[in-house]
Amino acid sequence: MPDYQMLIDTLYNTVKDNHTGTIASYIPQLAKADPNWFGIAIVTIDGDVYQAGDATHQFSVQSVSKAFTYGMALADNGRANVLKKVAVEPVGKTFNAIILDAASARPPNPMINAGAIAIGDLIKGENLAEKLNRLLAMFKTYIGHDVYLDGAVFASERLTGFRNRAIANLLKASHVIEGDVDQALEFYFQQCSLSVTALGLATMAATLANHGINPITRNRALQATYVRDVLSVMHSCGMYDSSGEWAYRVGIPAKSGVSGGIIGVVPNQFGVAVFSPPLDDKGHSVRGVQVLEALSEELCLHIFDGCDDA
Ligand code: GLU
Repeated sequence: MPDYQMLIDTLYNTVKDNHTGTIASYIPQLAKADPNWFGIAIVTIDGDVYQAGDATHQFSVQSVSKAFTYGMALADNGRANVLKKVAVEPVGKTFNAIILDAASARPPNPMINAGAIAIGDLIKGENLAEKLNRLLAMFKTYIGHDVYLDGAVFASERLTGFRNRAIANLLKASHVIEGDVDQALEFYFQQCSLSVTALGLATMAATLANHGINPITRNRALQATYVRDVLSVMHSCGMYDSSGEWAYRVGIPAKSGVSGGIIGVVPNQFGVAVFSPPLDDKGHSVRGVQVLEALSEELCLHIFDGCDDA
């Protein structure tokens, strides 16, 4: 087995001096982040944990949550019903693109805001409180401990989420959202505001790498058949409008978020998460991308790699 601790310590030390990138400021609370925050965590499918830097620093999960609410919607409704509402096509447009498929009026995929807001509407629950409780319980199963909502981030998103409001209203007008449009939006802002750490996200990623079973608690978070679906959309759509290039260069299903978190899933091996707020022009953590690229190269993780035959 590779010496993961040595690997991430080395990567941490090499990558920490990369000071490029810009912190997201369109959600005012995110602009308060320190550009030097940087943490890496790996959790293997055997439950071994490795961490470097600020791996236990709390931050809001943002779009990394989209992979997990997609899994939840699949478990709640079944694949066919979810596909009726949200397609699984990469779109090559920014995360907040106002876009629906011309023929079917569905959002193109669940990894961009339009798809994720529609997915939130599919999560079961009598009311918003019950949906939030189910969301928190789902995160808890993946991570192995209680998760909380960051109230300041939630308020900040809500006050400034004009574009997401436009998207949600378009979804309602197009009959993609069947329930209350404000509830769908509130749920989306809540899911983005959940507080996590790189270590927690690595455990969530490791649960996906382990076909839905948390490798530390041994509790099942998602049926294996839906893990396959989640990883498929992460692979084709998880990195916004650089998803194609990511699949080509890195070859690991991944999901990033504007607060600087990014997860990678290496099925049957491990989950990895990096947290570092400065973002590149596509909205991905600069240091996060650098770490995942280097890991893929070093450990020959690209799904189409044939390192043994080289
Ligand atoms: N809450 C953010 C938004 O909707 C999430 C975006 C992201 O992480 O990419 O704008």
